[in-house]
Amino acid sequence: MKNRIVNFSAGPATLPLCVLLQAQQDIINFRNSGMGIMEISHRSQEFMSLCDEIRQNMRQLLAIPKNYTILFLQGGASSQFFMVPMNLLKKGEKATYLNTGVWSGKAIQEARLFGDISIGFSSEKENFSRVPQQEELSIEGKAKYLYYTSNNTIFGTQYHYTPQVEVPLVCDMSSDIFSRPVDIEKYGIIFAGAQKNMGTAGVTIVIIREDLLEEAPKDLPTMLQYRVHAEKDSLFNTPPTFSIYIMGEVLQWIKNQGGITAIEQKNRNKAALLYQTIDASNGYYCGHAQKDSRSLMNVSFTLPSPVLEQAFLQQAQAAGLSGLKGHRLLGGCRASIYNAFPKEGVQKLVEFMQQFQQENPA
Ligand SMILES: *Cc1c(COP(=O)(O)O)cnc(C)c1O
Repeated sequence: MKNRIVNFSAGPATLPLCVLLQAQQDIINFRNSGMGIMEISHRSQEFMSLCDEIRQNMRQLLAIPKNYTILFLQGGASSQFFMVPMNLLKKGEKATYLNTGVWSGKAIQEARLFGDISIGFSSEKENFSRVPQQEELSIEGKAKYLYYTSNNTIFGTQYHYTPQVEVPLVCDMSSDIFSRPVDIEKYGIIFAGAQKNMGTAGVTIVIIREDLLEEAPKDLPTMLQYRVHAEKDSLFNTPPTFSIYIMGEVLQWIKNQGGITAIEQKNRNKAALLYQTIDASNGYYCGHAQKDSRSLMNVSFTLPSPVLEQAFLQQAQAAGLSGLKGHRLLGGCRASIYNAFPKEGVQKLVEFMQQFQQENPA
């Protein structure tokens, strides 16, 4: 499609064109029901089977075992920052958090309202340029869980291993879920907002080990109990039907791409192109993340000066490369290259970067 540009937005982010084209039809007539996807009841057979299909596809793609429940919730990933400790911690109980950026910082702030939180690692003094190595983790002995953010969307860092600990892991995978295989059994809870790697804003998925559903104090507000949503198959109240539908289409697209290992390989190839360009630029482009913490999803980098950065962003925009401005907290540039981001887009950026460097020496 000629008028679509290369969109590096960090979220909501670019979607596969085929998903949008299918949605265009389904908005008007979903599976020959004579009604659009946004117009059917969430309790209709059509919608309930759609939810079943999506859960099955998720189970298949990520090899989610039977003793885990998949929930479709609202309130964004940010609501999980408080729902997790509300449901898992009673007053005075402990949990350990790893502080690797803005999103884990926010999660820590919320958790402190409900429990006794220890920090098992922080890269704050290094401006969050890396995630910890296994040897650096210090877990509170009585911790009920270890919480971390697998991909730090703003700083462009990512864990390339699963922390090995005695307690269940709780992980915010908002910006790298379905981008690579996950060893689900190590986790008590995985959650993710849909708008980075799974679809559009409005739905947050929670994958929770069933025994943890019973941990919640009974006096929590009904909507904030995982147990309630699990018992009602995420239909306790009206779910965000359209966002769920789009997520389903994106998962189907991942399946058609060859599943998670195929997607992972593509993600590796895309990120390698960009990091190679950064590394070959003799320091002109400088990646924020330390090498062994580099994210395959968000590549944050700077140029030799703010003036050059401004020119870079302007000329990139004019060349049809959009959304490259870094997050306001870090500055610089950021290329978000989630699952649905096409390799051709990365190739265009790499060529643009090389040409810009030649034309604008430091
Ligand atoms: C974007 C993001 C969030 C916040 O998601 P909302 O859905 O806006 O609440 C949380 N965690 C990570 C890792 C993110 O990338």
